[in-house]
Amino acid sequence: MRPSELDAADWDDRGVLPVDVRDAVAKAGWFGTDLPARYGGLGGSQADLGELCAEIGAVCSSVRGLVTVQGMVSAAIARWGTAEQRADWLPALASGEQLAGFAATEPGAGTELSAVDTRLERAGDVITVTGEKRWVTFGQEATVFLVLGRLDGRAATVLVEAERAGVTTEPVSGQLGLRAAMIAHVTFDRVRVPAGNLVARPGFGLSHVVATALDHGRFTVAWGCAGMAAACVADTAAHVVRRRQGSVALAEHELVRSMLAGMAVDATSARQLCLAASRARDAGEPGAVATTVMAKYAAARAAASSSRDAVQLLGSAGCAGDSRAGRFFRDAKVMQIIEGSDQVCELHIADHLLRQHRTGSVA
Ligand SMILES: Cc1cc2nc3c(=O)[nH]c(=O)nc-3n(C[C@H](O)[C@H](O)[C@H](O)COP(=O)(O)OP(=O)(O)OC[C@H]3O[C@@H](n4cnc5c(N)ncnc54)[C@H](O)[C@@H]3O)c2cc1C
Repeated sequence: MRPSELDAADWDDRGVLPVDVRDAVAKAGWFGTDLPARYGGLGGSQADLGELCAEIGAVCSSVRGLVTVQGMVSAAIARWGTAEQRADWLPALASGEQLAGFAATEPGAGTELSAVDTRLERAGDVITVTGEKRWVTFGQEATVFLVLGRLDGRAATVLVEAERAGVTTEPVSGQLGLRAAMIAHVTFDRVRVPAGNLVARPGFGLSHVVATALDHGRFTVAWGCAGMAAACVADTAAHVVRRRQGSVALAEHELVRSMLAGMAVDATSARQLCLAASRARDAGEPGAVATTVMAKYAAARAAASSSRDAVQLLGSAGCAGDSRAGRFFRDAKVMQIIEGSDQVCELHIADHLLRQHRTGSVA
């Protein structure tokens, strides 16, 4: 299955990703790209996952978002779940039988997730979940949520099936970008789940489980953005060669060439950092998390600047409802906010650099 640009413009316009698209993603095995075969995955490398996300990202950020969220929750369970949780959930997530939502953000906690106040209360073998989550990508469709809350004052994560009594979803529409990502605000009103749904022990919820999910999310967002940036360069190059004003093609203007050159350099640099992140992750390098943050930061900025300049050079064609560059202009801004805003990425990158200097691992 390869969704076309026109399909993606239509989904974006309607704010809906058709079920048959989700089914096709599942059938292609994309949900389990980097999961081991024993869990029903394709056993692919991070390089494979990255290239896939670039390819999908070049067409539709919402489909890439679907793959991202499923991957974030799967990665968290694969790394921190019990053997039983891995066996129960991973094959169902890889096949698309279960659709995951990542429920961390709250009205009072976005960047600073240590401020979440969703309550997890334990009584014997039951955990009761009470809280409000915001902006859950594919929250309208998810069958299970990975929820970040607090248990006995410590950050903890729990899987909550969407069908449980007390779970309600409120669709979000009309947002700036990722319009077909079927986002929902989700309320958990004294939802009872088995204690076996806790992922990792209390105290590990944010620093380990959510950190793993976000790291995976940043990687796939980075590659999706690299795909968006490359698509903007391609669309712009094709347009400026074709489009004439008077007898002169836009491509003949030096100022136009200058913008196109800048876009190409940004897009290529972003891709190179994404490749570095893939290599670091596949090699299990200790700096892989920091390289991934750098890739996400650079690629989101490249997607934002390339889509901005693409719309500029496409002119009215870039402002049309079915313009890929126009859609990416909106989507790319969102990418600079989610999975760690640009500013938060800068803090991470600087912290990493300064730590290396203090420990003498950088000359
Ligand atoms: C389309 C979309 C999809 C999303 N999907 C999900 C999802 O699936 N699951 C989920 O849990 N959440 C999701 N979110 C929420 C997203 O993760 C948050 O929006 C993001 O973490 C930022 O939080 P906030 O919006 O509360 O902004 P705030 O935390 O209020 O920050 C606003 C801005 O302030 C600046 N800022 C914040 N902190 C600092 C700092 N320490 N230093 C410098 N500058 C700072 C940054 O510029 C930041 O963009 C989604 C959001 C959107 C828009």
